[in-house]
Amino acid sequence: MYTAAPDLAAFVQGLPKTETHLHLEGSCPLELLDRHAPELFGQVPYMWDDDFRYDSFTHFTQLFAQVAMAVFKTPEAFHECARGVFQECVSQNVRYVECSFHIGLLNQPGMHGPEVIAAILDAAPPGLEVRVFVGMRHNSYDAETAPIIDDCVHWPNLTGIDLHGPEDLPLEDWTARVWHRAAEHGKYRKAHAGEFMPAAFVGRCIDELGAQRIEHGVRAIEDPRIMRMLIDRGIGLDVCPISNLKLQVEGISTMSDHPIRQLFDAGVRCTINTDDTLMFGNSLNEEYYALAADLDFTPAELAQIALNGFELALWEGAGKEEARRDLAAIISECAPPS
Ligand SMILES: [Zn+2]
Repeated sequence: MYTAAPDLAAFVQGLPKTETHLHLEGSCPLELLDRHAPELFGQVPYMWDDDFRYDSFTHFTQLFAQVAMAVFKTPEAFHECARGVFQECVSQNVRYVECSFHIGLLNQPGMHGPEVIAAILDAAPPGLEVRVFVGMRHNSYDAETAPIIDDCVHWPNLTGIDLHGPEDLPLEDWTARVWHRAAEHGKYRKAHAGEFMPAAFVGRCIDELGAQRIEHGVRAIEDPRIMRMLIDRGIGLDVCPISNLKLQVEGISTMSDHPIRQLFDAGVRCTINTDDTLMFGNSLNEEYYALAADLDFTPAELAQIALNGFELALWEGAGKEEARRDLAAIISECAPPS
């Protein structure tokens, strides 16, 4: 677990923050999991150990699927999960959340997309702005799920779609068609890329799918042309450093290897996020501590990361303007006197 000296901890806590890469199933609160599958990971999940590493992404997805299938059978389960997750966000001074759930779970009886989304949105406490995305895998467009995928662009309470799951599976023809239809219906388009596949896949998601934000994207560092593309088109990366470490993403064997330092320095707009707090045992504040401890992010740079989250947020409102003003003031206070 990353810790911080009291002054840094207070500084990070004081930053208004966003969380824009959060899978609800993988962030299931322990109390909720305990009620449905108490035997699954034990009192303190073994994945929370600092030295724990997933052997592979398959290892991760198997555990993730066990949680998803044990708990997420009703809209109420999503509501309860979201309530716990959002409380945790508010306790860390998070003001804006983009969260997602897996579309395959809607194949169960009694699970309808708009109702699940309403149940999640209904869990948002006052002062927390929430947006919901539905995620689908490269191979999700099967006979059972295709009608749901085709329908989701019509759900008024859905903010957008996300491509997730094993990144090395082929990108099938339906994907670009669905992403383009989502654009026509005013839905925001994300894609997980550049976590396990090389930088070129980030480029494909932007060019072929019209992705507006990339989840992870850290392997963009391998290709200056892809970095340039991100900067020139203002496409942000929702980065999850502790997740990348525990999943042993290429080139990241310690946190000091993490490319967010170079991406940030090059001008790629990065946010930091938790991804799946149940699967990694992390908190958002810890992600900030990790950047300070192992990647020499200064307080002003941490505040800039937080500000990036509000710049990219799909939110217009007084709360967003207030957070931006506060962060800009913190950044200028941190600047050395000229
Ligand atoms: Zn993710």
